Amino acid sequence: MSALTDLTLRAALQGLRQGAFSSCDLTEACLERIERLDGTLHAFLTLTPELARQQAQAADQQYAAWRQDPSRGLPPLLGVPLAVKDVFCVSGVRTTCGSHILENFVPPYSATPVERLLEAGMVMLGKTNTDEFAMGSSTENSAYGATRNPWQPERVPGGSSGGSAACVAARMAPAALGSDTGGSVRQPASFCGICGIKPTYGRVSRYGLVAYGSSLDCPGAFARSVEDVALLFERMAGFDRRDATCVDVPLPEIHLPSEGESSPLRGVRVGVPQEYFIQGIQPAVEQAVRQAIAEMERLGASVEAVALPHTAYALPVYYLIAPAEASANLARYDGVRFGPRQPADTLWEMFRRTRGVGFGAEVKRRIMLGTYALSAGYYDAYYGQAQKVRTLIKQDFECAFEKVDVIAAPVAPSTAFRFGEHSEDPLAMYLEDVFTLPANLAGVPGLAFPVGFDAQGLPIGIQLMAAHYREDILFRVGHAYQLATEWHLQPPPLYV
Ligand code: GLN
Repeated sequence: MSALTDLTLRAALQGLRQGAFSSCDLTEACLERIERLDGTLHAFLTLTPELARQQAQAADQQYAAWRQDPSRGLPPLLGVPLAVKDVFCVSGVRTTCGSHILENFVPPYSATPVERLLEAGMVMLGKTNTDEFAMGSSTENSAYGATRNPWQPERVPGGSSGGSAACVAARMAPAALGSDTGGSVRQPASFCGICGIKPTYGRVSRYGLVAYGSSLDCPGAFARSVEDVALLFERMAGFDRRDATCVDVPLPEIHLPSEGESSPLRGVRVGVPQEYFIQGIQPAVEQAVRQAIAEMERLGASVEAVALPHTAYALPVYYLIAPAEASANLARYDGVRFGPRQPADTLWEMFRRTRGVGFGAEVKRRIMLGTYALSAGYYDAYYGQAQKVRTLIKQDFECAFEKVDVIAAPVAPSTAFRFGEHSEDPLAMYLEDVFTLPANLAGVPGLAFPVGFDAQGLPIGIQLMAAHYREDILFRVGHAYQLATEWHLQPPPLYV
């Protein structure tokens, strides 16, 4: 048998049910692997081994009771370990958002997606590294140091959920929670060679997810197969009255094709937008993505070109709207309610110093950009204009989804870049997000999964997008692809 840490979520559940191993065995295997690798990778900011062991023991007791009396039923994800991006509140567990301003913050409640996964029986291993307040594409903006990419430690894991992606890729956990405001689940999934779902905006509650850009923020999940990501999604999704933008739309039944089914994608229409195959994209990325689309066609899908003509505006629109919302959301970190307070003679001086010391450079840049865009006299020219163009981007998708069921595109123009390559030039870093931002602006769901490697052996990801509330079709196409291919089964060399 392969190591317990190799198991996918689905395989782990099966083993637990059959009694091949216990949740305590699985949890210890993850903790040992974290112990061995995390000194190098730095995927975790906080470990919760005591909590994990307690929860694993409780899970094993539940399995034992179930074996005695199978009519009791079992929580659906019982006993499987989970890592949580450090932007989700977990009751009693330090939640830093990768920022000094929250270095001592211990929330008194848990985020809804965390609560739901724990209710489903998962075992919490710890909190993972992130760019400060999820602002970034590499984890280099974490106040606690960057995470390394398990495929090549001199490269970034992507961001902002880089810790979650790296820990799943490195087999330190079979599953992790992330958040995606402009690509922060899909891009690190792609850079680390794993799978990630950004659900439809409003599908998963934001309650307890520390706010960055509230009209864009989306809790999401990572795992090593599309099937696993679908399992996590089903548990996280659903109405929550504590988030005013959470929708009460029933979850679609997720029907995944089964092994041996011929033409599993018959009737599925895949759209390919030329706007996502622009100059500057690495040739290996384009090639792998086009090959994956050809594979989908071989599996029975029809492929056609679609137009998303306002794609080029997504980047400037996002970098107005996201900082504008961030500037409002981050006003609460003032040294009174949150954060280590800096001493000063006056209240204003205390605010100024506390925020000056507590926030890093990128966060300050966004607060300033956002404050400017929202200020009197500029509001209409910047924020108001951006909102109008956002509507055009959304309409592009609505038109395209009249013709096709999914849109296939690269996740990012390049594979994982080296530390420092973009960190001196914010614009170069923002350009990394060019293909992931539109889905957030339109609120549509996106799924990333691996479709190949470049010449240096770095993973390449594809992104599938679908109409609002159609995560089911993303999972169907992704799973059919993974039944036919083996890219998602490749472990990073660090692991061998
Ligand atoms: N890289 C983007 C940003 O810095 C997206 C981050 C995210 O999705 N949280 O805003």
